Amino acid sequence: MKRKKEKEPPASLAPTLLRWYDAHARVLPWRAPKGRKPDPWHVLLSEYMLQQTTVATVIPYYRKFLRRWPRLDAFAKAGLDEARAAWSGLGYYRRAGFLHRCARAVVKDHGGRLPRTEKELLALPGIGPYTAAAIAAIAFDRPANVMDGNIARVMARLFRHKGPRAALKAKAGRCAPRKRPGDYAQALMDLGATVCLPKNPRCGACPVMRFCAAHARGETGKYPQAPARAAAPRKYGVAFVLRDPKGRVLMRKRAEGGLLGGMWEFPSTSWETVKPGAATIRAAAPVAVPWRGGGRKIRHVFSHFRLELSLRRGHSRGAIRPRSGDYRWIGAREFSTLALPTVMKKIWKAAQEE
Ligand code: SF4
Repeated sequence: MKRKKEKEPPASLAPTLLRWYDAHARVLPWRAPKGRKPDPWHVLLSEYMLQQTTVATVIPYYRKFLRRWPRLDAFAKAGLDEARAAWSGLGYYRRAGFLHRCARAVVKDHGGRLPRTEKELLALPGIGPYTAAAIAAIAFDRPANVMDGNIARVMARLFRHKGPRAALKAKAGRCAPRKRPGDYAQALMDLGATVCLPKNPRCGACPVMRFCAAHARGETGKYPQAPARAAAPRKYGVAFVLRDPKGRVLMRKRAEGGLLGGMWEFPSTSWETVKPGAATIRAAAPVAVPWRGGGRKIRHVFSHFRLELSLRRGHSRGAIRPRSGDYRWIGAREFSTLALPTVMKKIWKAAQEE
């Protein structure tokens, strides 16, 4: 059977998009003013922060980081706990550890200068194919096939693409220009974020409407095709907030490497798909004191499961020694500087309100 020849993307797509970008680019704090080269540290930091996170959420954290660590080598000298504390609230906490390791690797192996090629960037901690391509294009204006969620949506509609993402990426790669690759990638990101929206794309305002196969067929709602997803499981646990007469709070540090690795938490039962019974709760309590509460529920959504914790509060009359060495009493001043993930902040807020 004769294979159908794939239609080539129009050569005028990139120039059209770049003209639109020149007039409509979003003003974002990590973008260099027109005619100036971007600072690679700014691009690196923003790309780490933007993984799975919206621009609006990232901006205040990005500014806070740059105020504190205006240069990559300054950040590399910071302690890991300090980096995690500054990241606290931004979510996906492994990124903070990866960024810190990445900065140290850049100082150690590249003299403090971020490497320019995708291959070298890919070898750094926490940098995957998308981030390597984005940094190479945006920070160093090197030709790269950048595809994030926004760009994938635009491309899927332009080509009415069904099927594997790798095939879509190959089609997108054939559109990528050799001139101004960084601006082209950012133009596609902006188009996806402001015009080619997930629901109700603003096709009337779209600079590439005349190239768009989905629009021509009135099928923009059909693209991109949603991958079949299993419902996220629900997990349960009990969290313990224990204070002593000095106002200190009992905390423990989570193991490195796993979910919320290396971050501080309130002691809790392990998080399981069944609700913990009385014996499990008793065994997980860090000390034997009368525990109050239990009715208040704290809910949090992680990327791959939903968590429901019930809260127990306790007061120790004196200096009780916790059951294991992983725990520490934390005073109020230190508590305010801890790297606390959002779910722990929710627990603390609920404990204050009860
Ligand atoms: Fe997206 Fe509409 Fe533009 Fe097609 S015409 S790329 S669907 S905004």
